[in-house]
Amino acid sequence: MNKGSINVSVENIFPLIKKFLYSDHEIFLRELVSNATDATLKLKHLTNIGEAKVEYGDPKIEVKINKENSTLHIIDQGLGMTAEEVEKYINQVAFSGAEEFINQHKDADGIIGHFGLGFYSAFMVADKVEIITKSYKDEPAAHWTCDGSPEFTLDVADKTDRGTEIILHIAEDSKEFLDEWKIRELLSKYNKFMPVPIKFGTRKETLPLPEGAAEDAKPEEIEVDNIINNPTPAWTKTPSDLVDEDYQKFYRELYPMQFEDPLFHIHLNVDYPFNLTGILFFPKLGNNINIDKDKIQLYQNQVFVTDEVKGIVPDFLMLLRGVIDSPDIPLNVSRSYLQADGAVKKISAHITKKVADKMGALITQNREEYEQKWNDIKVVIEYGMVTEDKFFEKSDKFALYPTTNNTYYTWNELIEKIKGNQTDKNNKTVILYATDKDSQDQYIQIANEKGYEVIFLDSPIAAHLIQKLEGTKENVSFARVDADHINNLIDKDEVKISKLSDEDKEKLKTQINEGINNQSYTVQLEDLSATDAPFIITQSEFMRRMKDM
Ligand code: ADP
Ligand code: MG
Repeated sequence: MNKGSINVSVENIFPLIKKFLYSDHEIFLRELVSNATDATLKLKHLTNIGEAKVEYGDPKIEVKINKENSTLHIIDQGLGMTAEEVEKYINQVAFSGAEEFINQHKDADGIIGHFGLGFYSAFMVADKVEIITKSYKDEPAAHWTCDGSPEFTLDVADKTDRGTEIILHIAEDSKEFLDEWKIRELLSKYNKFMPVPIKFGTRKETLPLPEGAAEDAKPEEIEVDNIINNPTPAWTKTPSDLVDEDYQKFYRELYPMQFEDPLFHIHLNVDYPFNLTGILFFPKLGNNINIDKDKIQLYQNQVFVTDEVKGIVPDFLMLLRGVIDSPDIPLNVSRSYLQADGAVKKISAHITKKVADKMGALITQNREEYEQKWNDIKVVIEYGMVTEDKFFEKSDKFALYPTTNNTYYTWNELIEKIKGNQTDKNNKTVILYATDKDSQDQYIQIANEKGYEVIFLDSPIAAHLIQKLEGTKENVSFARVDADHINNLIDKDEVKISKLSDEDKEKLKTQINEGINNQSYTVQLEDLSATDAPFIITQSEFMRRMKDM
C-alpha cells in the first residue's frame, strides 16, 4: 500500500480565494476595516497594560479613494507590523488557512471565512495589493506588494507615523468600488457601529456665531472629518446609563426611515453561558405581519454580519427590530452555516427566554400600560406561543385575553373568573370568543346577558392559538360565540322553552333555510328571550375553522 500526502499547490489558492471565499465581493471592505480596527484595539490594550510605551492618542481609521490611480486606501493608526510580522501574519497564515479551506471546501455552501483569510478578500476586487506599515516598535517601516500570484515583495519603506496603510489597486471588473456612493453605502451597512471612528472624506460645518456678533455677520464654515460611524452605540452601554430617549434615538439610527416610536425595548446583556448584547424593539404592529422591512441585525463585536436572520432567531422574533451582537456569532459565514451552528442555536433559545422574562417583568411593573399596548404586541406574543414551546410555557404570565368589554385577563384570571359559570355538564370550561365585534354583536349580547364572558381574538393567528391552547390546557374548550345557540355552546342540561310548537318551528326553519340557501349555516329559534332578534343564524365551529385555517 502506498501512503502519501496530497500536495496543495500555492498557485491554485488565489483564484480559489477570489472565486469562492466569500459569496459577496463587497465584504472585502468590512474585512479590511475590521483588521484596521483590530490593530487599533490591540494597540489600545498594549498601551493600557504598559507593554507599548507610546501615546495611544485619538486614533481613527481613514478610507480614501484615489480615482486617478484607481486605488482604494484603508489607513489606520494601530499597532502596525514589523517586516518580520508581515512575513508571519500575512505570508504564512495564507498557507495554513488555505489548506484548511480546501479541506473543508467540499461541504461548504456559499463558502466561509474564519480561517484567518480576511485580508486575502482584498484580492476579490484588486489585482494588486500593497501594505505599507510601521510598527509601534522601534523598527523601520515595511512595504509588502503582491499582485495575486504567490510571489510577493517585501522592502523597507519610509513611512514614519505608526500604523498601516492598505492600498488596493482595484481590478478592471470591480471599478464600482472606486465610486464614492458605493463605498459610502458599504461603510454605512457594515461599519456603522464599529468601535473606532472611521473617516470618509470631509464635510462642512457651520460654526455658531459668537455672542454679540453683528446682525449681518456671516457664520464661519470649517471643514471637518466626515465620520461615518457611531463607535459607542446604545447596545454597548449599561442599561442603567440610558434613558428612554436614548433608546428612541438609537432606533432612529438603526432605521432612519422609521418615524413611529417603538412601543418598548428589551436590552439584552448576557455574559453567561455566552456573551451576548443587544436591544430588541417592539414596533407598533397591530395585526400587521410584515417581517421584510426593518429587520433585526446581527453583529459580531459591532461588525455587521447579516440581517437575514431566518433560521437564526426564532420566527416570531423576526417581527421585532433591533440588534443582536455576540462574539460567538461567526463572522464571514454563509447563512446555512449559521443556522446549523451550535452556538447560534443556543443564542436563539436564550433570546426567546429573555423576551419571555422581560414580558413577565413589564406586565408586573405596569399592568395598565401593558394592557394599552397589548393590541400592538399580541401578534408577536401569540406567534411565539404557537411556534415556540419554551415561550408558550411561560406565557401564562404575560399573554392577555381581552374580553369584548375590554377587560384584560391573564389565562389564570380568565379561568378563575369563568370556571363556575361557564363549565358545562361534561365538566369542560367553555371559553366563548368573538373575532369581529360588529358582525357578531348580537351573539356577544346574548352571551353577556347570560352572564358569560366573551374573549375577543382578532389576530391573524388566533385560530392557531386556540388550537394550541385546546391541545395543552386541560378541561377547556373554545367556542366561537356565533357557532351555535348559546345553550348548546355551554350545555348545562337546562330546560329550553319555546312558544312555538315543534311543528311550527320546523316549518319556520325550513323557510328561513331556503332563504339563506347555504349549507354551512344553521337557524336557531329556541330560547331567544335574552335578545330582541326573532331568530339567529349560526355557523358551526368546524365549518368556520375550516375557513380560517
Ligand atoms: P484575521 O483577522 O482573522 O486574523 P486576516 O487575514 O484578516 O485574519 O489578517 C491576518 C493577520 O494580519 C491579522 O491577524 C493581523 O495580525 C495582520 N494584519 C492584517 N491587517 C492588519 C493591520 N491593518 N494592522 C496590523 N496587522 C494587520
Ligand atoms: Mg481579519
